[in-house]
Amino acid sequence: MCAMSQQVQYAELFKDIEYKLTNIDDYAWGEELYEFPLIVYIKNRSTIPNYGRVCQESVEVGLITINPHAEGMIEVVPAMYWPTNKNIYIKDDVFNKYWRHLKKSVAIGIENNPEYCQEHGIETPEDIVNLRILKTPDKEPYVSYHGKIKFKTKEKIEPKGTSLKRARQSKLDNPKNIFFYSSNRDGSRQVHDKECEVLDSIPDDKFSGSNEVPDGYILCKKCKRKLLIRMGCYPNSKQIPMCGSFFHKHRVATTEIEQMIDKGITFHVDDMSVMTINGIEDTWQIRAVGEEVSLWHNNYVKVSDTERYITDGFHDQKCPGSMTNMIHYIEGYTWKKHLAAEERKKLRAEEEARIAVVAGERRTHWYYRLIDRIKDLLKRVK
Ligand SMILES: [Zn+2]
Repeated sequence: MCAMSQQVQYAELFKDIEYKLTNIDDYAWGEELYEFPLIVYIKNRSTIPNYGRVCQESVEVGLITINPHAEGMIEVVPAMYWPTNKNIYIKDDVFNKYWRHLKKSVAIGIENNPEYCQEHGIETPEDIVNLRILKTPDKEPYVSYHGKIKFKTKEKIEPKGTSLKRARQSKLDNPKNIFFYSSNRDGSRQVHDKECEVLDSIPDDKFSGSNEVPDGYILCKKCKRKLLIRMGCYPNSKQIPMCGSFFHKHRVATTEIEQMIDKGITFHVDDMSVMTINGIEDTWQIRAVGEEVSLWHNNYVKVSDTERYITDGFHDQKCPGSMTNMIHYIEGYTWKKHLAAEERKKLRAEEEARIAVVAGERRTHWYYRLIDRIKDLLKRVK
């Protein structure tokens, strides 16, 4: 289906004004413009790239369009045509004045030349309009619905990749995040330490960080030890290397550190001679002299059979063995258990005292002495 050509429809009206077109070299009907890029320029022609040549070689053209409200209905839009690149140059204020009507003429041309327009990606009249001269670093020109050139302030649009990268870095920098992982649940579902090299394989758009292990995820084998030590020192990440060295020096296995973390135990090392461990209720120190370690327990004052308060300083707990033994001791210690052990010790002492009394009585009472003598006699008879 073809749109009615204005060139045909208004041929008679055009004839009436054609003789007046003495100030232009040539003219073109709006419906013919689909083939010619329309370059909008501002202020004066010097804003046109290569304007010296363009001005020298171009011709003044009139673009013919129909304005039903204008006298004689035909309007001649002044512009410039440069045959070298087949561009038409039009000043911004002229464009703003005439585009409303001119675009209708262009639309007819597009409709009547579908093959050419499809091939050149021209779907609407605005597709032939080129506003690049009007662009500024922070303003983007566009043709409004009413056919006028407007500007929108450019948001600082970053390429998508850059903003994702930034988001990734801010997750890494957020001190609350301990665990890093891919949000792709179809993948390996492992959480990593921020320094784990496996993180490099997680794409930016899937990169996630959290202060807890997400449901269904496990700790990565490669960075588990570091991750556990990070948790044990949290939030003081500067402690990690020193704590790592202390555990390493005294041969504490990763599974042991994991057990401590599971029980909510934390630790820190100020120098290689002592690691302070915040146990379940008490504070402990593992003091090292060379390879040897000893376990020290916070001092406390007992105020009743069941109550105490913790005071300054530490006492030697006299716990023998390796650092691992001491960690087990710390893990097993609570004040309640301590009291229960004391109670057992007391009962055992009482029982032993009772047995000693009975034995004493046996030696002194005549009745027992008589029985013992009879037993002796019987043994001899046998
Ligand atoms: Zn890892």
